[in-house]
Amino acid sequence: MTFGNPSGVFEDALQRLDAAFEYADIEREPLERLKHPKAMIQVAIPVRRDDGSLSIFEGYRVHHDDTRGPTKGGIRFHPEVDLDEVKALALWMTLKCAVVNIPYGGAKGGVTVNPKELSRLELERLSRGFVQQMADFIGPDTDIPAPDVYTNAMIMGWMMGEYSKIHRRHTPDSFTGKPIPLGGSLGRDDATGRGAYYCVKQLEAKRGWNPRDITVAVQGFGNGGQAVAKLLHADGYRVVAVSDSRGGIYNPDGFDVPSLIQHKNDTRTLAAVYCQGSVCEMVESENVTNEQLLALDVDILIPAALGGVIRSANVDAVKAEVIVEVANGPVSSHADEKLNQRGTFIIPDILANAGGVTVSYFEWVQNRQGFYWELDEIHQRLQQIMAREFNHIHDLAAAKQIDMRTAAYAHALGRLGGAIQAQGTQRYFSNGGKE
Ligand code: GLU
Repeated sequence: MTFGNPSGVFEDALQRLDAAFEYADIEREPLERLKHPKAMIQVAIPVRRDDGSLSIFEGYRVHHDDTRGPTKGGIRFHPEVDLDEVKALALWMTLKCAVVNIPYGGAKGGVTVNPKELSRLELERLSRGFVQQMADFIGPDTDIPAPDVYTNAMIMGWMMGEYSKIHRRHTPDSFTGKPIPLGGSLGRDDATGRGAYYCVKQLEAKRGWNPRDITVAVQGFGNGGQAVAKLLHADGYRVVAVSDSRGGIYNPDGFDVPSLIQHKNDTRTLAAVYCQGSVCEMVESENVTNEQLLALDVDILIPAALGGVIRSANVDAVKAEVIVEVANGPVSSHADEKLNQRGTFIIPDILANAGGVTVSYFEWVQNRQGFYWELDEIHQRLQQIMAREFNHIHDLAAAKQIDMRTAAYAHALGRLGGAIQAQGTQRYFSNGGKE
């Protein structure tokens, strides 16, 4: 199944920005600036297929804002990628990097393709072709891509290799999320899920949860979904449902998550199993659709797949008390309003999934230093950042009586506004330069 993104997702994103503005202590000029992406490119990527035929794929890259530093954000390979979606995703990257206070602006890229229909060689040609078309639009000091939906470390390695070949020098800092032997960082693989897990741990402390009493459903069993499920399970949380693009499984007693991951990665299928060593045995579970998973009566719902999955049509069915947005934009703004009215506590994407770009930043720093950190150091630094920003946003939400998303946007706008205003706005210039 496809999850789909509502059309007008960029407009939807701008509405949220407007809503948060009244809680951010900044001038209007920065807000207006942030409504317009800085630059966008659309390219055609010709790929020679294994049978000798030629396919041409559309590729996009949007630089949203670079006031706080070079732009940063992933590249997705998905059949539903379009420019409007990439614009929204780029805006969210600007906000996300500001939320965790790393010195980057926001960008995003994508190719409209179903990568599952390509052979490995075709995928390599497409990845290298993307860089050939984009080589002047990206770079370690201007715009640094990373993995996103259906792209991975190996693809980043190919892309970095192609970029280095074009520029005739080794440039490990041109892409993040690379394989470790090609300059990737320890801890980047599970960083998105781990960042979300650190947010849940903060909430656990505030609410005095006993993990064993807390049920969790995870929609999407890719990089982010697997990592957060594994970490929560290891702490005793009951992960009762997981799904992938083909459907899901449910067991009220909870699953042994490492077994599910092993089975999924060995067979590429999701099944309720218990694995010992290399032997996996089927265990009891009920099959659920992705829609049914979203409607389960669980404490924590983690949408970790695509955007727009919780929308007007199904929001009334959602029962979870807490939603942790590991995917980008999983809740439409209309659904958001309804959930807020109902008191659902949402840890928004620009905070919940910011662990990925945070460790990407660590990777870039290590590449530039040529000095690599231990895993413990990565975890410690990530934990500190996530806990600090979660609490900051939580306090802001409480002080202003607003939801966590509005608070996260206001927090990000505060940092972005500070940077944009430091270059001068009407208030400064109309006063003849006198402060
Ligand atoms: N694609 C990820 C995101 O949406 C990671 C971006 C990055 O590491 O630059 O946050």
